Amino acid sequence: MAEATPIRPQPADTIETWQYEADVVVAGYGIAGVSAAIEAARAGADVLVLERTSGWGGAAALAGGFIYLGGGTPLQQALGFEDSPENMKAFMMAALGPGADEEKITDYCEGSVEHYNWLVDNGVPFKESFYGQPGWETPFDDGLMYSGGENAAPFNAIATPAPRGHVPQMADKRTGEKGGGYMLMKPLVETAEKLGVRAEYDMRVQRLIVDADGRVVGIIAKQYGKEIAVRARTGVVLATGSFAYNKEMVQNYAPRLIGKPGASIEEHDGRAIRMAQALGADLAHMDATEVAFFGDPQLMVRGILVNGRGQRYVNEDTYPGRIGQETLLRNENQAYLIIDEAAYEEGIAADSSTPFFRFQPKWVAETVEELESEMGLPAGALVSTVEVYNRHAENGEDPVLGKKPEWCKPIGSPIAALDLRNFTAGFTLGGLRTTINSEVLHVSGEPIPGLFAAGRCTSGVCAGGYASGTSLGDGSFYGRRAGVSAAKG
Ligand SMILES: Cc1cc2nc3c(=O)[nH]c(=O)nc-3n(C[C@H](O)[C@H](O)[C@H](O)COP(=O)(O)OP(=O)(O)OC[C@H]3O[C@@H](n4cnc5c(N)ncnc54)[C@H](O)[C@@H]3O)c2cc1C
Repeated sequence: MAEATPIRPQPADTIETWQYEADVVVAGYGIAGVSAAIEAARAGADVLVLERTSGWGGAAALAGGFIYLGGGTPLQQALGFEDSPENMKAFMMAALGPGADEEKITDYCEGSVEHYNWLVDNGVPFKESFYGQPGWETPFDDGLMYSGGENAAPFNAIATPAPRGHVPQMADKRTGEKGGGYMLMKPLVETAEKLGVRAEYDMRVQRLIVDADGRVVGIIAKQYGKEIAVRARTGVVLATGSFAYNKEMVQNYAPRLIGKPGASIEEHDGRAIRMAQALGADLAHMDATEVAFFGDPQLMVRGILVNGRGQRYVNEDTYPGRIGQETLLRNENQAYLIIDEAAYEEGIAADSSTPFFRFQPKWVAETVEELESEMGLPAGALVSTVEVYNRHAENGEDPVLGKKPEWCKPIGSPIAALDLRNFTAGFTLGGLRTTINSEVLHVSGEPIPGLFAAGRCTSGVCAGGYASGTSLGDGSFYGRRAGVSAAKG
């Protein structure tokens, strides 16, 4: 049967004319692509980037801009936080698993300080200030924040807490529209341009070109409806993002995200994964997902989150992305925030990067019994949850889930519930299996000659868990490696 949109590799000897040529051809001009382009150019390669849209940026330019870095970066040190590669690794192995790639995480942690310096040397600005409040991001232009639950249970007992969410400084920040991600991309693209990197826009990469030995030697792309053959003399780098917007792939690999908004851009259609699969590439962690949760951390931390059975299931002072994963993946996407009036008013008055996640309570009552009944929960379920929580909160403790003492306050009256059911979005984390040199691995376990990849079309440092900054982090880190490897050929 003929393929509707051909995806199988095309033999090089069938190409009559190469419309473009370069040493290294990079598909996608987001974070992984720009990092690959810079390092390939620095290694002496002539570099051409093919981008599907009419400009650089990708999801990276829309992102909040967290880059997960640690091990004692100059910013961590300047702000008085101690960290080491070993400590960072202990956290990442615990928080990003099960199944996290230990070799990649070790390598990533050991190279993290150098990577921070590389970003700074390439013009990415970080302000020396720390934001310590609960939040998805800092509402201001602070450069450092906890971004993975490092300072909350259970991870604060596994590794010494250190904030690792490094955020480029951004003036006139507007979360979700214009954030630190833009201030990451802009200086990097300017660096690439200075190094002579060329870019062709409105170029939609379609399939790989291979020679008789099975080596990848180019790419077929479509530009304004015409097929274009692009020759890569030393290597091809795939950097086109995740499969969050490929319905069929989400259905087959990450079904918890079916019908949820994609926290991504529509161009993340999984094409690079499919193109490489058609050549025998291996995959990893295709079920792994980042999960955004539309509850304001400043409110969540002051109440208790309960599931559809009225039971607590996560410490409310942890990273909101972990709350999202716990809610969607393990609690059927059912969540209510139970909060008393005084705590609600205090939370509403606090600074927030996500004021649009502040919702009015759906149910309000004088007693927990009344609230439970109005919500339709089984009699006694919420009553016993609040009773146990309050009993220990009186002493500033949460022996059930380990919420930190500063947030443990008994829930009083009047009491309300916010309806946070089905309030999640997400993007996919799985993809091509790659080495620490960003070589794409064949199912046989050997690298596919001439083919490299980075960013969310690959499986990076995350498997079961997630921390904000790991996507821009491993995308830039392994993007650089892909550039170096592709330039060597
Ligand atoms: C609102 C929001 C906030 C986020 N905040 C953070 C954060 O703070 N920290 C973090 O680590 N992550 C964050 N993320 C996730 C992060 O932005 C992405 O995971 C990351 O950008 C992935 O990098 P990438 O290089 O793989 O993809 P991208 O940066 O999206 O780059 C891929 C590029 O490839 C292009 N492309 C796609 N298909 C083709 C094709 N067929 N041919 C040619 N080009 C193609 C795309 O147009 C795009 O320009 C956020 C995402 C969103 C949406």
